[in-house]
Amino acid sequence: MLQLRPNCEYCDKDLPPNAEEARICTYECTFCADCVERVLHDVCPNCGGGFEKRPIRPVAERRPGVSLAKKPASVNRVRLKWDRSTLGEFIASVRGIPPAQR
Ligand SMILES: [Zn+2]
Ligand SMILES: [Zn+2]
Repeated sequence: MLQLRPNCEYCDKDLPPNAEEARICTYECTFCADCVERVLHDVCPNCGGGFEKRPIRPVAERRPGVSLAKKPASVNRVRLKWDRSTLGEFIASVRGIPPAQR
């Protein structure tokens, strides 16, 4: 189950569960669309993978036990663990490779 992390790892912007601008990699590293486009160039700084839009968990319990209230979003904020001065080099080495070939 997706953790639905509460913030962008790069700029720390709030990304509530219904944020249309939340992006995730396969490991659920979570960033805002702005950072993915302008800073990360679709390269996850943690794993080198690409990003997709994070799905939105329904608020309404349309099936028993399945809703945002029953399966709440994570409240643990995550911050980037890499030195930002080395990020450009990492991203440059990966961004030219399509995600399907990384
Ligand atoms: Zn951001
Ligand atoms: Zn990642």
